Amino acid sequence: MWVNMKDSILSALVSIVGEDYASNRPEELYLYSRDSGVREPRRADYVVMPKTVEEVQKIVRLANEEKISITPMGAGLTLSALTVPVRGGIVLDTKRMDEIIEVNETSRYAVVEAGVTQASLAAYLNSNYPHLQHSTPEAPPTATIVGNILIQGHGHLTPRYGVNSQMVNGMEVVLPTGETCKLGSGAVSQYWFSRDPLPDLMGLFLGWLGTTGVVTKLSIQLFPKMNFKELLIFATDNIDLIPELLSGMAQLNLMENCFIISQEKPEWAQRVFFVIPVSGHSEEELEFKLELHKQFLLKHESEIELVEEEPALTPLRNRFLDVPPFAATAADFRKGGGFGYSGIILPVEKVPEAWRKAIEIARKHEMPYSFGHQLLSNGHSVMFGPVYSFNRADAADMERARQALDDTNRLGLELGGIVWKPELQAQKLILENMDPNTLELMKRIKKVLDPNGIMNPGNWEVV
Ligand SMILES: Cc1cc2nc3c(=O)[nH]c(=O)nc-3n(C[C@H](O)[C@H](O)[C@H](O)COP(=O)(O)OP(=O)(O)OC[C@H]3O[C@@H](n4cnc5c(N)ncnc54)[C@H](O)[C@@H]3O)c2cc1C
Repeated sequence: MWVNMKDSILSALVSIVGEDYASNRPEELYLYSRDSGVREPRRADYVVMPKTVEEVQKIVRLANEEKISITPMGAGLTLSALTVPVRGGIVLDTKRMDEIIEVNETSRYAVVEAGVTQASLAAYLNSNYPHLQHSTPEAPPTATIVGNILIQGHGHLTPRYGVNSQMVNGMEVVLPTGETCKLGSGAVSQYWFSRDPLPDLMGLFLGWLGTTGVVTKLSIQLFPKMNFKELLIFATDNIDLIPELLSGMAQLNLMENCFIISQEKPEWAQRVFFVIPVSGHSEEELEFKLELHKQFLLKHESEIELVEEEPALTPLRNRFLDVPPFAATAADFRKGGGFGYSGIILPVEKVPEAWRKAIEIARKHEMPYSFGHQLLSNGHSVMFGPVYSFNRADAADMERARQALDDTNRLGLELGGIVWKPELQAQKLILENMDPNTLELMKRIKKVLDPNGIMNPGNWEVV
């Protein structure tokens, strides 16, 4: 990278990481000043790519001395601009911290550095521990394990085992004041095998959007990979039946994953499709699980249809069986490559109302609706995901998508849901709806951890 040595902050960053890994060059900052979602760009002043924990500590200490903000970044793929600095400053890109430190085969966990990607952990497990897997989001393969967990993301094992942040055994963190700190069993033991029974300090970092420290290592649980898999697909036209079907099937506790999809175009896709990968260690186990589902579905025989031979769905079958299961095929109706989705975490019983109102939102903004919802945490909630595609070259079209996303976020909160990976406007809405004492607690925690307010300021702004 080219560096302007007249800049003292840049010189200090260069002295920490070397010339190749710090920059304030406009063409590099251009990339760090925006993401691929629909939100407006914001200025980044520097980008730095540390390799070691000690380098992260030095950068954090420098930021405190200079009172300059740090925005931690994995792959920057949330689509809600969470790694685009709100107050300028340094983007701390973790891509070079890419070591898979340990896999414990028997207690089933992997310890990874902050920049390890979904694809690199999956490939490593495939080559070395093919009977193990981690819960993989549908996000692009460059998404990091740590970034996904810190936003409490969802993977293909979430319907069965919980959201990905529930699968964390422990972390190493550089606090906003520069000290390192271990959380979970790794704080006491050489094994990163458990989050309990210690006081659970993980909550000081999960969901905080990089405002309370830089996570440098993390231990994530692994799960058995089944050899036999099949898709169960069925459709209904009765939206009001969705909660009963979801709740009933979740209680069977046999699904590996569970999507509910529907879209306005083509016409055949307007039905409510349940797409359920089921897996087993043996063919007999798989058959048995499929049979139990079918017996459950018999109760609703008059209103559902098993989709076994639908030719239009055939190309999708393999994609749903893949891990990651379904690389966003959100129909590119607008022909411009842009796409965004809200992700509202909803109580299961609110899905029909959300469904109808989200169609109204799409109509209001002259967009065909497109839904990709996922059952979460063994059926205790749903990630309700209306998708809006837009033409990146058309400013009016982008504005329409922005407004549709804002309306969807408002709808989610009105229905008693929570906006997931919220961008700034949605964060503000959440804080406005929050119990004042909870807000006060967040404010105190932030002040104690980050007295100079250097960590990703502007996000979760409770001061
Ligand atoms: C096509 C598509 C499909 C998607 N599907 C899914 C899906 O199925 N499930 C899902 O969960 N998500 C999905 N996403 C959303 C998102 O891409 C993923 O959650 C992704 O894993 C986020 O990881 P990241 O590395 O991009 O995080 P980033 O965007 O880099 O970071 C996320 C947040 O964590 C903070 N952060 C990052 N690293 C650190 C660190 N080391 N220390 C402290 N803070 C840090 C950042 O400041 C930011 O606030 C999808 C996105 C796209 C584009």
